[in-house]
Formats: sequence, structure tokens, C-alpha cells
Amino acid sequence: MRPLADFSLEELTELVESMGEKKYRAKQLMRHIVAYDSFDEYTDLPKTFINSLRENYIDRVLVENTRVVSSDGAVRYLFQTVGGDLIESVFLPHDYGNSVCVSCQVGCAMGCGFCASGHYGLKRNLSAGEILSQVLFIARDKRNEGGINKLVMMGSGEPLHNYYNTVKFIRLVNSEYGLNIGMRSVSLSSCGLIDGIDRLASDGISCTLSLSLHAACDDKRKKIMKIAERYTVAELVAALKRYFDKTGRRVIIEYILIGGFNDTDADAVMLKNLLKGLCCHVNLIPLNKTEYCDFSPPTKKRAYGFCEKLKSSGVSASVRRSMGSDVAGACGQLKNRTVEQKIKK
Ligand code: SAH
Repeated sequence: MRPLADFSLEELTELVESMGEKKYRAKQLMRHIVAYDSFDEYTDLPKTFINSLRENYIDRVLVENTRVVSSDGAVRYLFQTVGGDLIESVFLPHDYGNSVCVSCQVGCAMGCGFCASGHYGLKRNLSAGEILSQVLFIARDKRNEGGINKLVMMGSGEPLHNYYNTVKFIRLVNSEYGLNIGMRSVSLSSCGLIDGIDRLASDGISCTLSLSLHAACDDKRKKIMKIAERYTVAELVAALKRYFDKTGRRVIIEYILIGGFNDTDADAVMLKNLLKGLCCHVNLIPLNKTEYCDFSPPTKKRAYGFCEKLKSSGVSASVRRSMGSDVAGACGQLKNRTVEQKIKK
């Protein structure tokens, strides 16, 4: 059975018509998918229609397993999918509104050395409805705390490695009958699959694109990211320039600062030279510790020193405040807990 949350408005329209219902029911269904997670609550629809939906489609895509609340207000949710996989999402309250960080895959195939999400490899892609349901669940849960204004695709998984469902998800949240969240309020973070970056631009997806660069030269990048064997940093920057030319959207460069590895002034100069001519902002992320790697975060002084070095050479940069690290909910700390739970048994 397929989750109803997987359906676009066009697909819902085809579905309701094939069931002998009027076209307007599709918009009604889409609104219900946002508001409720049970067919029982679709009370304004004909009983026979609801019953045949019930027989063929899934209403509740995710069930909460546990949640952990951080001292900074971030909440890490652990959800169970219909098939029994466990996935994580994070609620992030900010002064300017609330965001949700979603996972797009169970596990991850990219195998970056500093990131917990890829430790056990990729189990499977999440469907668009499974990605959407993370946001819907949290939006309902936080209904009285101002709702959700921003989405970040920075949880487990590589969005451009699950391209079809990622783009479908972005279109679903963007829909006026869905959550109606603007493309500009969606950030997609990628380790840099160049084909995907080019496809995003040609498919008219003008979200905020964040590139996980983490090193300014190929040698260093290869030491921490497998994907660096496939694409050079120069090719990545060229792809980002094309993305900017097509969408007019400034890109974000994510750069994890790893103590003694990529945090010297010489690294900052190399980064400045690499980014020459690219309209971007550099987000510096002091490494979050995970149990799987021996790297260390930089000292606070070094992190801000690196940032100042970039700024004084004309590069827009800031040090990212990481939320949720005390509950393993910060960047790079989300993981495929299904495997761990199986191992623990
Ligand atoms: N696959 C995507 C999105 C998931 S990771 C990507 O690679 O961008 C989201 C962000 O967290 C990325 O910038 C990633 O590099 C960063 N991240 C991963 N592990 C981290 C860690 N241990 N400390 C800080 N940031 C980390």
C-alpha cells in the first residue's frame, strides 16, 4: 500500500477521478493530508470514499518512537516507518521562526569520515511522502509554538542521491494546498553530486543550495570524503556558478572546521582563492563529535580566527551555532538507529 502523502496534486486528481469522485476532492485530500494523520478525521468526505481510501492507501506514514529535548530547545524525534525502519528528524526553534531538519534516506551511501549517518551505509531511499510526513508530524506537534517556517534537508542521507523523491518533496511542501512553504525557505545540503546540482537548476528548483565542501583542495577533501574521488573542488565550484547563473540564488558553502586539519590561516587563504567569483556565503561548522571518528573540533579562538581571515579577505562568512548537540541531534550526529538497535538486541 502507498502512503497518500506521496501523491502530488496532479496524482491525487487522477486518483479521485478514477474513484468516481469530483476533481475538487483532490485539493480537499491534500489539505487533509497536511492537517490529519488518520482517515478517521476526514469527516467531511463521503464514507464510501474514505473506506476505499482506507483499503488501498496509508494515512499514518510515521509513528513516533521516542523524542529527546535539548537544553537549547531543539528536539530530536525518532520515527518508525511502516516497514519498521527508524529515521530521525530535528525541530530547531530560532528567534526568527522554527525549522525542521529532515532525513531523506535510511542511512547514507556517501561514507564521509566525520559523519555518523553513513556509518552503516545506505539501507534505502525514503519516499517523498515519508520525508514530508516528518515535517507534517512536527508541524502538528508544534502547532502552538508558531508552526514551521523553514526546512533544511540536512538530516541522514544525501538528497541528490535520492533526487526524484527530494524534488517531489520540495514541490509538495511548496504547493499552496500543501504546507505552502516557499522554495527560498527550503535549504538543500549536498556533498556535491554535480549532475544533481545541474538538474535542480534545470528543473526550476530554486531552493537554497548548501554545498558540503569541508576542504579547499582535492588532497585534503579525499582524506575525509569519498565523493572527492569523483569530483574535484574546481568542478564543484564551476557547478555552483552555473546554479547561481540559472537561479540567481546565492549558494552556501559548508565547511566543517576540524582542529589541526583544515583550520589554519593558510587553509582560509586557499578557500578564499577557490571561491573567487562565486556568489556565496561560507558557513563554518565546528566539528561535532561522533563516536565513529577521532577528529577533534577546533578551538573557539581558531574557529573565529578562521572566520575573520575569510571576512578580511572579502568572503562573506559566519560560524554556525550548532543546536541539539547534547542530544546527538546536531549536524552529522543523526544515524540509522535501526541497525544499532538490531546490534544491541
Ligand atoms: N548529505 C548531505 C546532507 C547531510 S549532512 C551533505 O553532505 O551535505 C548535513 C551537514 O552536516 C553537512 O554539511 C555535513 O557535512 C555536516 N556534518 C556531517 N557530519 C558532521 C559533524 N560531525 N560535525 C559537523 N557537521 C557535520
